[in-house]
Order: sequence, then structure tokens, then C-alpha cells
Amino acid sequence: MSESDELTDLERADEDCVLRFADGAAFTLGYVELRLVCPCAKCRPRQENEQRMIEFREEVMRLRMAKPKAELVGRYGLRFEWSTGCSSGLYSFPLLRQVCEIDGSVLGE
Ligand SMILES: [Zn+2]
Repeated sequence: MSESDELTDLERADEDCVLRFADGAAFTLGYVELRLVCPCAKCRPRQENEQRMIEFREEVMRLRMAKPKAELVGRYGLRFEWSTGCSSGLYSFPLLRQVCEIDGSVLGE
């Protein structure tokens, strides 16, 4: 695993969280963005194409995004437990880094 794919810290605020990686990069990421890439069996098909993604986003935006619980899974991923359902998705560190790169805001520097 490269350093950029190794999550070292997660700080949860009310509407977003800060993720830090072993290569020193840190990002702020909103829970909506995180929820939209939920890799569980129920949500993954909703990310398959643009149309389904638009519908999925609208649905997620209507939900109240409360701070999820997060649990470390081994040394390679996190499981988020959303109050709006969905708790079985395992977010691998490389997936988290990818979402940060695309939707997150870079912290510091
Ligand atoms: Zn899900």
C-alpha cells in the first residue's frame, strides 16, 4: 500500500470530516459526498451510470446527513454507519483517497 492510500486520521465534525493520509495530505470532505460513494450492495448499483447517480444524489440530498459512526476495519478500510440506513459498506482507504481527491478540499499549505 502506498502512503497516499494509507489513512492515518479521521476527525468527524457535524457536517463534514477531515481525513489525513500517511503522505501528509489532508482533506475536508462533506458527508453527502461520502454517502454518495457508499460501496454497499444497495448503493453501488445506484452509482452505475449518470442518470442513476443524479437520482441517488437527489435522494441523499433530501436526507438529513447526521454525523455517521466510523469503525476501523483491519488496516485497510473504514465502515461508516449512517443514521439514514446503510452500514454495511466498507470504504477502503484507496476509495477514501479517491473521493477526497475528487470532491474534498485540500487542507493546509
Ligand atoms: Zn450503502
